[in-house]
Amino acid sequence: MNDTISILKPENSPSCEACGSGSTFCFSWPYALETQGKELGVDPDTYRLNRQLRFGKLFTCSICGHWWYLNHNEEMMNSVPDERHELLERWDEKPILLAENILAVLESIGATPAHKYEGKPEYLNVPCLVRTRGGEVFEQALVSFQRHPPIEAYMDPVRLATEIDSIGTSPFALSRKVRYQTAQSDEIMMGAAPTLVEAPDGALFVLNWTVNFFRHGSHKASKLRVSTRPLDMKDIPPIVNEDPGQTVYFVADWHEELERLYIKRK
Ligand SMILES: [Zn+2]
Repeated sequence: MNDTISILKPENSPSCEACGSGSTFCFSWPYALETQGKELGVDPDTYRLNRQLRFGKLFTCSICGHWWYLNHNEEMMNSVPDERHELLERWDEKPILLAENILAVLESIGATPAHKYEGKPEYLNVPCLVRTRGGEVFEQALVSFQRHPPIEAYMDPVRLATEIDSIGTSPFALSRKVRYQTAQSDEIMMGAAPTLVEAPDGALFVLNWTVNFFRHGSHKASKLRVSTRPLDMKDIPPIVNEDPGQTVYFVADWHEELERLYIKRK
């Protein structure tokens, strides 16, 4: 299947037959126009341009009023969940740029590269600790520099980076080397791209795909190292996944110059 025309549909039927809201998360806009939506089960004429956003465009369904977001290169049309309307409006008000002193700390922590199987990413993530202007502290935070509004369901909880007062080191963030290595992992079987890591006491763990955080027992995330031992497929060590709900996302604007934040190959 061609990824650029993929459409994601859960089991439930759409609440609006015209735009597919309730069952369609995203689809290829050029493909929908080219095929008049026949292949995708949507009607392109129903999406009415509402307005240009800072990046991308906002559309609304002429039948049900559902919000749709077309990304900046006009490739993907994305459903905007109702509960994200207010956040999208605030995101669109003004540029979300971080002060140089904050960027310097983020650069020292290092942005985790996108997995090597992904194309050129549209985002740049740095795992860190965030102190907000309101006095809150989030020990497992991900500053996400991106060219699209925070509408993805997986970004939950999500805030705007304008709330950031200062940045620190997350006690749950993996080291630069381990994070870099997880982004270079090979897919050895469907859905499995493991990186074997080792704690100072010799305990082994498997990280799957690109990983930023590690919370498991009393093991300190920063002390884990990429193991030189071979992965024993007959006796696979515990696979430690990130619990998505524990990461708080802080969204800021992406621009080319920020690529200096990426961890480089040593
Ligand atoms: Zn609709």
